[in-house]
Amino acid sequence: MNESDFNFDKEHIWHPYTSLINPLPCIGVTSAEGVHLTLSDGRQIIDGMSSWWSTIHGYNNPRLNQAAKDQIDNMSHVMFGGITHPSAIALCRKLVDMTAPSLDRVFISDSGSVAVEVAIKMAIQYWVAKGQSQKSRLLTIEHGYHGDTFAAMSVCDPVNGMHELFNQVLKKQLFAQAPQSRFDQPWQESDIDSLRQLFVEHHHEAAAIILEPIVQGAGGMRIYHPNYLKAVRTLCDEFDVLLICDEIATGFGRTGKLFAYEHANIEPDILCVGKALTGGYMSLAATMTSQVIGETICRTQAGVFMHGPTFMANPLACAVANESLAILQENKWQQQVAAIEEQLAHSFSRFKSLSVVADIRVLGAIGVIELHQAVDMATIQHAFVDNGVWVRPFGKLVYIMPPYVISPKQLEELTTAIYQVISQLST
Ligand SMILES: *Cc1c(COP(=O)(O)O)cnc(C)c1O
Repeated sequence: MNESDFNFDKEHIWHPYTSLINPLPCIGVTSAEGVHLTLSDGRQIIDGMSSWWSTIHGYNNPRLNQAAKDQIDNMSHVMFGGITHPSAIALCRKLVDMTAPSLDRVFISDSGSVAVEVAIKMAIQYWVAKGQSQKSRLLTIEHGYHGDTFAAMSVCDPVNGMHELFNQVLKKQLFAQAPQSRFDQPWQESDIDSLRQLFVEHHHEAAAIILEPIVQGAGGMRIYHPNYLKAVRTLCDEFDVLLICDEIATGFGRTGKLFAYEHANIEPDILCVGKALTGGYMSLAATMTSQVIGETICRTQAGVFMHGPTFMANPLACAVANESLAILQENKWQQQVAAIEEQLAHSFSRFKSLSVVADIRVLGAIGVIELHQAVDMATIQHAFVDNGVWVRPFGKLVYIMPPYVISPKQLEELTTAIYQVISQLST
């Protein structure tokens, strides 16, 4: 990559949530291996982000590479309408095995946002089928993030999200206060009051509640008490509202359980997974539900569930996802994530004495440092790279969710680099 490449990129290509007017320069990455990204100038840096929660088994993983190669030499794609194929079947068998017993109907889609749209359509179509089409609104909690498409946006945090900008078109959903009881502190019974109030007032028009179980990701990196999730399940049963768990970020072991809802011993009615599903190789997501809900959905006049992407269950993505789940099923992730959690808790504890640091949160292979003030991205991005790591903060939040395969020494390098950068902010 030369200067003209970077200039072309800057002038012509949009990156996530960026301006076309004077965008911050991007870092060129030309290859990746294990936990390392190789930059266009030859430097190698440790990826603390797992490319947004996804690269759990590391880059250039030989087993995932082989699965992709085998599949591509056989058939990289075939339509899913009226046709099925071994990779989709093998993947869905694993998904049904790994998730809660009631979740045994799978809808595969192309990305997390679409999996959320599908979940919302399932919930709405379910109530139409039951003759209760007035139950079409969604309940949720503040500080959530569910994706960038329209229905998903409508349940993102109203302040951090894009509500103001798209006010005219976004459906008005029902927001409760986010839980205040932290995962690692005593449960406050009153925490559920705001949500209970919403259920009491609006259950007759609510199709479902959607939330990220235990860890709220891009809407604030908040880690809340499992009793909150238990209370949500109870409210859903009491008031006849479906529970959608969005585990697109938390699924597949990230929080120390295979799925975060397991922390509360509950089962959702509808589950969304994505991000780590293919081990970070390509875009794939799934929405799962129970036989009863799935069959009810198909009892509307339409007779079918009304969704079907062109690239639904792309064999290449399914083959890699199937292998990624096979690696998970060998169960090394439990030790890997537990070791990362222990080391993060230990090495993050010394951040507390820095004056710029407001809070530290660790769960599973997730580490969050909340600062008192929002960071200056232009300077901090470079500082991280110069210290040999890839960390991409947003606002006041500096956070990492490294690949599960990171070694203790590499994790030490990662946290030391973060300490260096943050302690420089203090002076
Ligand atoms: C990333 C994310 C999404 C959206 O997934 P995309 O693949 O980016 O569309 C939805 N929900 C949660 C919780 C996420 O973290």
